[in-house]
Amino acid sequence: MLYDIQQIRADFPILSRTVYGKSLVYFDNGATTQKPRQVVEAITDEYYNTNANVHRGVHFLSQQATELHEASRETVRKFINARSTNEIVFTRGTTESINLFVSSFGEEFMQEGDEVIVSVMEHHSNIVPWQLLAAKRGIAIKVIPMNNRGELLMDEYRRLFSERTKVVSVTHVSNVLGTVNPVRELIDYAHSQGVPVLIDGAQSIPHMPVDVQQLDADFYVFSAHKIYGPTGVGVLYGKEEWLDKLPPYQGGGEMIQHVSFEKTTFNELPFKFEAGTPDYIGTTGLAKALDYVSSIGMENIAAYEHELTQYALRRLKEIPGMCIFGEAQERGSVISFLVGDIHHFDMGTLLDRLGIAVRTGHHCAQPLMIRLGIEGTVRASFGLYNTKEEVDVLVSGIERVRKMFL
Ligand code: PMP
Repeated sequence: MLYDIQQIRADFPILSRTVYGKSLVYFDNGATTQKPRQVVEAITDEYYNTNANVHRGVHFLSQQATELHEASRETVRKFINARSTNEIVFTRGTTESINLFVSSFGEEFMQEGDEVIVSVMEHHSNIVPWQLLAAKRGIAIKVIPMNNRGELLMDEYRRLFSERTKVVSVTHVSNVLGTVNPVRELIDYAHSQGVPVLIDGAQSIPHMPVDVQQLDADFYVFSAHKIYGPTGVGVLYGKEEWLDKLPPYQGGGEMIQHVSFEKTTFNELPFKFEAGTPDYIGTTGLAKALDYVSSIGMENIAAYEHELTQYALRRLKEIPGMCIFGEAQERGSVISFLVGDIHHFDMGTLLDRLGIAVRTGHHCAQPLMIRLGIEGTVRASFGLYNTKEEVDVLVSGIERVRKMFL
């Protein structure tokens, strides 16, 4: 299939705007992605024509809204190749998915002295919920170290297991280093020890085909807004046999079967974990976004972004004083860097004046910054609509900033 970049860019109206009189170069896709017309129009259309609360009404609109919402669940199921829609829980995003998991799994399966294994390159959202559980329950957090290229040390990983290891929770792709972790290998080893694994897919779902059955992940979480969908909605995938065993996370409407003051029974999967009115408009937007990337093809997106990232790495390395953090063999389309002793914040602010949106700071991964011995980086992260010409604009922008600091 021909990757029609001009057509793709035309689907994202925001890409043709200017900032400070310069053409926008949007390289902050790791934080959030822009939305194609198809997604925005589907959201508008539902508000205009089909809006009603789901799962409740006998009336026409409510039934139509419910059908749309449940069709979106099926779209997600198909996209990640889950066995059943019972395994697709809608949440507010990756962060809520992880908090739900930690809270429910911790309550049911973890006692004082039990252990979770995470990696040194986790986002705060896969660290702090475990720390909250540690404060409540006295569990211990063990950390997989990495080498200087940003690759996890697999021997060390295996050595971290003990009889107290109850769960492994690791990111698929680092939002700072771009490292694609060998999750299948991590999962296989954990399973050989009888331990389930949660994969944080926030940075993998937009960039590569993901098949949860092939990965054999017990849980996989992601946010819609990082894959060209709306904010405020996300997914917790869990194997049905696991979700069945977990207690509800929040109480309220939708998640119950029958309520009395004496005894309440809970709804079946996946509704047991979906208290309150769901973001049914958001799930429509998410499904449209998944349809959109599927129409281009995740393999095609992965190949296009790989070539773009390789080009960017080559060009950036030509800049004197360039230091790139993350040189893993397997890497995604995130590039973190510093140039000489120019502060990341100065670099980001000056690039912004040239119309280039990059991220600066610790990227919600302060333990990783400590490991790297730095305070923060500049991060350029690419999406399916970015181009080599935009990379050239970034490279000449960095050159300009560098010369100002000479
Ligand atoms: N994990 C990773 C690896 C991320 O990159 C992010 C977002 N930067 C998150 C979790 C949190 O995602 P959200 O803010 O959408 O909940």
